[in-house]
Amino acid sequence: MSQPHSATPLKTRFAPSPTGHIHLGNARTALFNALLARGRGVFLLRVEDTDKERSTQAFEEGLMADLSWLGLPWQEGALPEGREVGEAGPYRQSQRDGIYERFYQQLVDLDRAYPCFCSEQQLAITRKLQLSAGQPPRYAGTCAHLSAENVQRKLAEGQKPALRFRVPKGATVEFADGVCGPQKFKADDIGDFIIRRADGGSSFMFCNVIDDALMGVSHAMRGVDHLTNTPRQLMIAEALGLSAPGYAHISLINGSDGSPLSKRNGSRSIRELRELGYFPEAVVNYLARLGHYYEDTRFLSTDELAAGFQLENLGKSPARYDEDQLKHWQKEALMLLPDARIWDWLSEETRALVPAAAQEAFIGIARENALFPAEAQVWAEVLFGAELTLDESAKAALQAAGRGFFDSALAAASTDFKAFAEAVKIATGAKGKALFMPLRLALTGHEHGPEMSKITVMLGLETIQARLAAARCCC
Ligand code: GLU
Repeated sequence: MSQPHSATPLKTRFAPSPTGHIHLGNARTALFNALLARGRGVFLLRVEDTDKERSTQAFEEGLMADLSWLGLPWQEGALPEGREVGEAGPYRQSQRDGIYERFYQQLVDLDRAYPCFCSEQQLAITRKLQLSAGQPPRYAGTCAHLSAENVQRKLAEGQKPALRFRVPKGATVEFADGVCGPQKFKADDIGDFIIRRADGGSSFMFCNVIDDALMGVSHAMRGVDHLTNTPRQLMIAEALGLSAPGYAHISLINGSDGSPLSKRNGSRSIRELRELGYFPEAVVNYLARLGHYYEDTRFLSTDELAAGFQLENLGKSPARYDEDQLKHWQKEALMLLPDARIWDWLSEETRALVPAAAQEAFIGIARENALFPAEAQVWAEVLFGAELTLDESAKAALQAAGRGFFDSALAAASTDFKAFAEAVKIATGAKGKALFMPLRLALTGHEHGPEMSKITVMLGLETIQARLAAARCCC
């Protein structure tokens, strides 16, 4: 698979199964497909809900909400509330049984698929024998050449067969993977494989390749865990005379401890990140660089990320999830997004505390002192809350400064912090940390935080005086 050029109609897709919330791994798959198509073609969303027990409407709606939140619109495919857009639907696999049936029949008619009556137990025994003989486990071909009468008899007995794809003997399947490079598989090593289960359920591999062909998908980027499915899918497509997309299998994401990303080592769902207060732009800037190299290390818009997206910049080795990096992009987002976005990002509780006149200044405080809305709320309470709560260590530090220090501070109180601190310094002889820390603690209750000159302006003289008086009472 190569970087698209303008002559090829470019269509990528995201084909999730709605059996859980979208995590960083599948969000990145969606992102890469969306970036490749952005401004160059169509990004399609197909819902692979063949697992009827685990797929839910709520997960489906959730994944669409996550994609929308990330700013990755799709131009074709399933839409919320059962709707869809496009000419090649339905875009939910659960509604495509009739289509799959047609292609199953075609394979049977071509003698490229046959009913298999082997029980799970029989198959397990063969697998075990093969493994103990050092052979790769593959179907032994027991039902590959049953006579028509034999098949009829078993069916009449009520046996329910699976449908197996007949792999051409001695063939090799070769393809160029967009990330992993040239691939070569021996069909004999694969063996005849199931495309429809005995319970009637369609296999992922079958539906996925049929749909890609019928929906005109040109490029499929997906997790490297699907690499070994690809020769099977290419054989199915070839048998049916369908075109398969160019595949690019992207590396796994490992957790901070080097093992595959899971809940245990840091994986989070997109929903969780949103609830924590991550900006979608931060998540997108982070994920775009997780396994894809960008020379430009600046915070980029999704259009810029799309313009710089190159298949050849996808890495082969596993990417490693690093929460600090994600936070780095969150910080960038905080510094660079417009005021209105920061204001909307604050919690309702925070917005209610900030007086209209202090909005702009508080947005500045939030940008510099918070990564998440919950942290901004702390500063809103410090600056505009009725009372300051001092912890024991703050009280001890105030006591150490002494009553006289706060007498002088009260006498010099001002919203002009430079003048205020200078006057206290002259009056008390305190300087450096001994001067600034008691003032900071008395006015904010925190050892660190926004610049004092900004704080005093926002607090106003009355509050400054009240807090200095309260600090004196601690002594
Ligand atoms: N439903 C499959 C998955 O979520 C899609 C794989 C593919 O992209 O081809 O893994």
